[in-house]
Amino acid sequence: MQGLSERLEKLQLNSMEPDEIAELMALLSQPRFRTQQVFAWLAKGVAPAGMTNLPSSLRETLSELPYGSADICAARRSQKDGTVKYLFELCDGNLVEGVLMSYHYGNTLCLSTQVGCRMGCAFCASTLDGCVRDMTAGEMLQCVAEAERANPPQGGGRGITNAVLMGSGEPLDNYDNVVRFLRLVTSPDGFGMSSRNISLSTCGIVDRIDSLADDAPHVTLCISLHAPNDELRSSLMPINKKYPLSEVLAAAARYAERTGRRVIFEYALIRGVNDGIVHVRELASRLKGINCHVNLIPLNRVEERGLDGTPRARAYEIASQLADMRISASVRREMGSDIEGACGQLRRRTAHERLERKP
Ligand code: SAH
Repeated sequence: MQGLSERLEKLQLNSMEPDEIAELMALLSQPRFRTQQVFAWLAKGVAPAGMTNLPSSLRETLSELPYGSADICAARRSQKDGTVKYLFELCDGNLVEGVLMSYHYGNTLCLSTQVGCRMGCAFCASTLDGCVRDMTAGEMLQCVAEAERANPPQGGGRGITNAVLMGSGEPLDNYDNVVRFLRLVTSPDGFGMSSRNISLSTCGIVDRIDSLADDAPHVTLCISLHAPNDELRSSLMPINKKYPLSEVLAAAARYAERTGRRVIFEYALIRGVNDGIVHVRELASRLKGINCHVNLIPLNRVEERGLDGTPRARAYEIASQLADMRISASVRREMGSDIEGACGQLRRRTAHERLERKP
């Protein structure tokens, strides 16, 4: 399309915010009310060809712009708890996962933010093949819209009410796209999700945690801790060498103070590695004074990694030991264990199967 500004040229249509769509409409000599029409369609995951209240010439022009598609190419429903794992195919053939979990308060979609991940955590399947690329804001929005389409709010369903950025990828390593996505999905003229219903999980990129307090102060910040000291944490999470535990905890405390929101610490329990009473004591002493909650997650075994989860009975014991030490803690419900619920597992298997099928 000719005459498009450099700023707009870099964006997929469904990554655009209302002011950018307005700029586009002005460029195309369209009336102002088109902006809201287009934005509303995009929030529903509808590409230009399906925007039925637009003149066909405009639909055709908009179809020439890049669009961040994310088509559901596989879905597996857990027989145990109804959790559904989706595999989304992006426009360049890359695959990302999403997991839909039903709770009493609504439906939560666990979203990926990158194709793969470059953080290199020792227990995580998403990072095994490195990071292929960042996801765009439009692609993340499209995942939400497609999942909503597959679980429509009509007919007793509730649609997608909550989102957690806890799929593959490190959201704060794809900061601008993630913050843009948060603005898109929470816009009342768009998808309209409440920012209080959104959680973002990070391995602890400290300076971006501080920016997030400005750019998205209403989301729930989750920090993957997984160890109570630098030696152990660095052996599990390479990022700890750049941002040691004391800095991560200080950033968490600042976030909690500035936003007034409790920070969630995720702690994956790995049998014989980080689940002893010494670890519990050390964890409690490091977290003292921070407005926080600890989410204990027995590790999902990842075959390639050879690490095992702590038995659930021990996980409950750790939760009560932490409570005795005045640290609020709970054990995360096990969801979708029969459908490779843990990050990266289904994507990896499908991508490998596809490779094998290629001549
Ligand atoms: N990069 C972000 C978000 C993605 S991972 C982060 O590090 O927080 C979401 C959570 O799942 C993180 O806490 C991550 O450490 C954890 N996780 C990864 N692999 C896991 C596994 N095999 N079992 C349990 N939790 C796992």
